[in-house]
Amino acid sequence: MSAAAGAVLPSPAPTKYSSAGGQHATLTADRAAALLAGCASARRASELHAAAVRAGVDRDKAVDFRLQRAYATSGRLDLAVALLRRSPDPTAVFYTSTIHAHSSRGLHLAALALLSDMLSQGLLPTTHTLSASLPACNGRGGLAVGRALHGYAVKLALSGDSYVATALLGMYARSGDAAAARALFDEMQPDPHVVSVTAMLTCYAKMGALDDARSLFDGLPKKDFICWNAMIDGYTQHGRPNEALRLFRRMLRSGVEPDEVSVVLALSAVAQLGTTESGKWLHSFVKNSPRVLLNARVGTALIDMYYKCGSLEDAVAVFDGLSDKDIVVWNAMINGYAMHGHSRKAIEMFKQLRAQGLWPTDITFIGVLNACSHSGLVDEGRKFFKSMELEYGIEPKIEHYGCMVDLLGRAGLIEEAFDLVQSMKMKPDAVMWVSLLAACRLHKNMALGQRIADYLVANGLANSGMYILLSNIYAAVGKWQEVGRVRSMMKASGIQKEPGCSAIEIGRQVTEFVAGDTSHPRTDEIHAKLEEVMKGLVEEHGHVPQTELVLHDLDEATKEKALAVHSEKLAVAFGLISTPPGAEIKIVKNLRACADCHAVLKLVSKITGRKIVFRDRNRFHHFVDGACSCGDYW
Ligand code: ZN
Ligand code: ZN
Repeated sequence: MSAAAGAVLPSPAPTKYSSAGGQHATLTADRAAALLAGCASARRASELHAAAVRAGVDRDKAVDFRLQRAYATSGRLDLAVALLRRSPDPTAVFYTSTIHAHSSRGLHLAALALLSDMLSQGLLPTTHTLSASLPACNGRGGLAVGRALHGYAVKLALSGDSYVATALLGMYARSGDAAAARALFDEMQPDPHVVSVTAMLTCYAKMGALDDARSLFDGLPKKDFICWNAMIDGYTQHGRPNEALRLFRRMLRSGVEPDEVSVVLALSAVAQLGTTESGKWLHSFVKNSPRVLLNARVGTALIDMYYKCGSLEDAVAVFDGLSDKDIVVWNAMINGYAMHGHSRKAIEMFKQLRAQGLWPTDITFIGVLNACSHSGLVDEGRKFFKSMELEYGIEPKIEHYGCMVDLLGRAGLIEEAFDLVQSMKMKPDAVMWVSLLAACRLHKNMALGQRIADYLVANGLANSGMYILLSNIYAAVGKWQEVGRVRSMMKASGIQKEPGCSAIEIGRQVTEFVAGDTSHPRTDEIHAKLEEVMKGLVEEHGHVPQTELVLHDLDEATKEKALAVHSEKLAVAFGLISTPPGAEIKIVKNLRACADCHAVLKLVSKITGRKIVFRDRNRFHHFVDGACSCGDYW
């Protein structure tokens, strides 16, 4: 039942009918209905309503219906519903118009309550009722109601109606039932409406069925920017940023003007790739676009892109240049500082936004807690974590606990981290176990590490990310039998270790290396350079390869070799041979940096005098003259 059902109709306003533009004498029902037909203002509707009451024609069916329509279109849904309730014998048309008024304003539950009312009165839905109600079938339970309405449509032979079919397809597409949507779509061939095409495309793209989406997309004779955005969104959301960006460039060439959404999607693709050149190009595109304004939303995407591409200065410049900063913009900047290890700055930003009267969100706290974690600021972290709930009324989510576990674990307070995990109301997630295990390995607390490992293995909670750590922990204490067990579990579950992959941007060209890569045309030079560098590090700078990180039960010499070919090492060697001396080298890796590569990159920056900017899965490392901005704490 709608909450508005009990609304009281206003007593007629003391307005003269003359002000409504007619004669003083008699207002006929026909005339009242005609005047109401084009009425879109609530004030005007109530004036006419008053006049109709005085003239005694307000109970006329046509007047009643038009009044209700006028209230509904002008946004006075409470009065529209009150009229419906008062009507002695409301028709399906009357109901449908009220349902439509609610569903088109996103008041889905109220719309469905009215529909259920209508059906319980014994009124049958029309094509209009169905196409007005189906958009209200959203969220949890929406699919079940939608299917029931589909049943009605078939039973009443209305499913062939193009509006009904379109609404049904939209309903299935929104709820992710691609098969049902596709079946309806195929029935619409050869000439589906553009609304259906877009719905189908969006459904595929959201679900990650990108090939299906793409073949639909490519087959479209005419594509509007909504179709382009849906396709670009699919690529961006499902880890194919290169294709997203390529499509964005094609969109430009095809003469379709990108809107704000397209630009934000393209920026997010660049942020994933970490390619500054493309990012700068997009930034200048925004400056020159007649259609895209540099507002808070686009600004946030630019800040996000710049700091993820390694250029914190550019992110700060965008932030400073924005006139209208909401909390989302601040959150992006705080995260940027945190990811680059400028923890104090991130914390200062928190104070600044409070001073400006902005209220932090749960994302703000993820930013500051990450900042604390990246610099080992345990006391500050504990304070922020406490204040979240006590001062700001934000209940910590699993991500916040995750940050705290990470912070405590890295700082060596593993028991406290473990206690925190056990005190949580929710179940710990895989990320949390991974950071606990990593902390155990880092601080060589193998007793707790093994305890957790045994618990995870015994309870079937281990996953691919953990298998590596589990075998690392077992390997570090020389328990090769357990290492073997974990490795065979890994094989049995069909999970492969995610291959390490590093990308290096030289000019506008991005080159990718996977671990042990030999596919590059200059592979001999790259490997020769790497060997030369490594030899120098070991012989002249006392570098000791950190072999404990390798999984296999290998002899020492082979272990060293396995380390030597990590993808970031190949990328840095390639950078050294293909850029002029002194040029900065920028690398983006899909996994966390291992301790050995971290040590090697530090030394390389010292020997070669190069600045190396390295983004791993979690944060940035700026290597300069033998030191890293993370202070070896990551
Ligand atoms: Zn490595
Ligand atoms: Zn570092």
